[in-house]
Amino acid sequence: MSNGRKDVQERLKSKGYRLTPQRQAVLDFLRSVTSHPNAEEIYHAVKKKIPSISFGTVYRTLNILKEAGLIQELAYGKAFSHYDGNPKEHYHIICSKCGRIDDIDLPVLGDLKRRAASVTDFSVTSHRLEFYGICPDCCQSSST
Ligand code: ZN
Ligand code: MN
Repeated sequence: MSNGRKDVQERLKSKGYRLTPQRQAVLDFLRSVTSHPNAEEIYHAVKKKIPSISFGTVYRTLNILKEAGLIQELAYGKAFSHYDGNPKEHYHIICSKCGRIDDIDLPVLGDLKRRAASVTDFSVTSHRLEFYGICPDCCQSSST
């Protein structure tokens, strides 16, 4: 996938959207962090660049970027979504204590999708795999 502005414009256009400064700012921020922030955190970060932006606009922008395949949503129930500037399938590890979400560098298991497809009538399109544990910061604070 190309990450250029042209590609972003094309993807938005294919869904009937234009690339606005607000949408660019939300995407830029998500691509600049590895923390998988929630909508509230994204709003506060983007507001520093575009003070007039509203939470509603940020929220709608996230849905539009997701629809265009430019980001992905990690939903933990409707109220607890986090967002990822990397739209490609990849896995995460989550701290059970503080909720930190990191990427975990493992190859995507294509075989798992095929195996799931073989035991269901569903057409399997994707899968999501999450590991849980205690992050280094929380390990440290519990040992002192
Ligand atoms: Zn932690
Ligand atoms: Mn990720």
